[in-house]
Amino acid sequence: MPLPFLSVLAMAGISQGGDITMLNHSTTIDDRATHEADTFEIRNPSTGEVVGRAPNTSEKALDETVARAKAAFPAWAATPDAERQALCRDLAGAIGEHAEELAELLTLEQGKPLNGLGSRWEVGGAQAWAAYTAELTLPEKTLQDDDGGHVTLARKPLGVVGSITPWNFPVMIAVWHILPALRTGNTVVIKPSPNTPLATLRMVEILGAMLPPGVLNIVTGDDRTVNLGALMSAHPDIRKIVFTGSCATGQSVMRSAADTMKRLTLEMGGNDAGIVLPDADPEAIAEGLFWGAFINNGQTCAALKRLYVHDSIHDAVCDALVAYARNIPVGDGMDESSILGPVQNQMQFDKIKRLVDASRDKGTVLLGGEPGEGLFFPPTLISGLSNGDPLVDEEQFGPVLPIIRYSDLDQAFTDANALETGLGGSIWSSDVDAARAMAGRMDCGSVWINKHGAIQPNAPFGGVKKSGLGVEFGEEGMAEYTDIQVVLS
Ligand code: NAD
Repeated sequence: MPLPFLSVLAMAGISQGGDITMLNHSTTIDDRATHEADTFEIRNPSTGEVVGRAPNTSEKALDETVARAKAAFPAWAATPDAERQALCRDLAGAIGEHAEELAELLTLEQGKPLNGLGSRWEVGGAQAWAAYTAELTLPEKTLQDDDGGHVTLARKPLGVVGSITPWNFPVMIAVWHILPALRTGNTVVIKPSPNTPLATLRMVEILGAMLPPGVLNIVTGDDRTVNLGALMSAHPDIRKIVFTGSCATGQSVMRSAADTMKRLTLEMGGNDAGIVLPDADPEAIAEGLFWGAFINNGQTCAALKRLYVHDSIHDAVCDALVAYARNIPVGDGMDESSILGPVQNQMQFDKIKRLVDASRDKGTVLLGGEPGEGLFFPPTLISGLSNGDPLVDEEQFGPVLPIIRYSDLDQAFTDANALETGLGGSIWSSDVDAARAMAGRMDCGSVWINKHGAIQPNAPFGGVKKSGLGVEFGEEGMAEYTDIQVVLS
C-alpha cells in the first residue's frame, strides 16, 4: 500500500520499505525553516525495515523552537476563548480528514495493526478526544459576592508547555497533551519518542499549519547525543511539562523541573491488578479480561497486568481466557487481517522474554511463551505465580499476563495494593453494586468494574503512589494547564 508523500514525510525521508532518501531536511512546520542534516532511522517493528527518518534536533534548534513558542504565547493567550475553541474544533476535524494517512504511518512505525484496537482505532480516539476537549471551558468562578467582599477565581494559561510522549500510543497521547494546552491558551513544544516520531511529525504539520506560527511546534531526536526531554525538563522558558512514560524517566523530569518550579503532569507506569470475585461468570468476562490485558499487545499504561482469580473459578477463568486468546490473529500490522502485531522495540521484547523465562520453573505456561520471528511474541498466559515473582512484581508492558490464584479476598486486595505503583485496577463480579462498593479498597487512580483500562475524555485519569502526579482529561485535567488567579475586593 503506497504512502502519500506529503511534505513532512519527504522532510523525514519516509518511504515504505527501505528505499530511503537521505535529505537535508527543510521543514516549514510553524513557518520555521530549520535545516537538520542529522537524522535517525525509524524501523517497522513487523519487518525490521527502515520506514523513515526524523531530524536529530540540536540543543540550539530546541532553544530556537522554545523561543518561537514563547514569542507566540502572548497573542495566543489573548485570543478570545470562543476563537480558540473554534480552532480546536477545526483541529479535531483535521485529524479525522487525515485519519487513514496517520493510521498507516502509525502502523509502520509502531507495529500495531491497522485494525482491531489498533491504528485506526487510536486515530479515531484522538479525533474524538480532541473534539471533546475543544468543548471544555474553565469559566471564571465567583467565590464570594456579599457585603463582606467580592472574590473571583480565574484560570490563566502558563506559557510554553513542553510535551514528552512515549511510543505506545503516540498519536492519542500527543492529542491528550496538545489539545488541553492549546485550548487554555498555552503554546506547545512536543517531543515524541525516538521510536515513533513519524505520525506525530505529520500530525503536528497538519495542525500547526492551521494555527498562528509558533503556537504548535515539534522537536525530534534519538536521545543519544542530545536528550531533548531532559533539556526541556530543565528549560527556563518552558513553564510546564506534561510527560507520559516510564516511572524512572518521570522521576528524572521531576528532578530536572525543580529549579524552574515547572508545573508538572506526570503519567507514568503502572502494574494494574484485576480481582475476579467467586461469583463472576468466566465465559462472560473472558473477552473483557483479554482486551483489558492485551490491548496494544499489553503495551498500555493502564492495561491489566496481574490477574487475581478466586480459587473456586480459577481453572474455568484460565480455560475461558485460553479459548479466547488462541483465536486472535497476530501478524504484520499492515495486513488487514491482523488484530495484534509485534512488540514495538527490542528493549521491550527482551524484558518480556526475561520475565516469561523467569516464570517457567514455578508457573504453568497455559498459552504462548515462545518468541516468534523478529519482535513477535504471542499472547502468553501463565498461571501458578504470586507476589514476589518477577512477572507479577515488575511491569511487563507486553503480551503476557500472570494469573494468580487466591482464596482469601482480603489477601487478594493486600497483594493487589502491595506494589509502589497505582494507576488502575479492576473488580470482576456478577454483582456490579457489590463490586462498586469494594472499589475504595484498591489503591489506584481509576477502578473499573467488569472492564479494565477503559479511559474516557470526561473522566480524570491519573496515578497514585509512583504512577504519577496530577490528572489528564475533563475539567480537572485541563485545569492543570493553568495557574489560578484570585481577585479580591
Ligand atoms: P520512557 O520513559 O522511556 O520515554 C518516554 C519519553 O521520555 C520519550 O519521549 C523519551 O525520549 C523521553 N525521555 C527519555 N529520557 C528523558 C529524560 N531524562 N527526561 C525527559 N524525557 C526523557 O517511556 P517509554 O519506554 O516510551 O514508554 C513506556 C512506559 O511508559 C511504560 O512504563 C508505561 O507504563 C508508561 N506509560 C504510561 C502511561 C500513563 O498514562 N500513565 C501511558 C503510556 C505509557
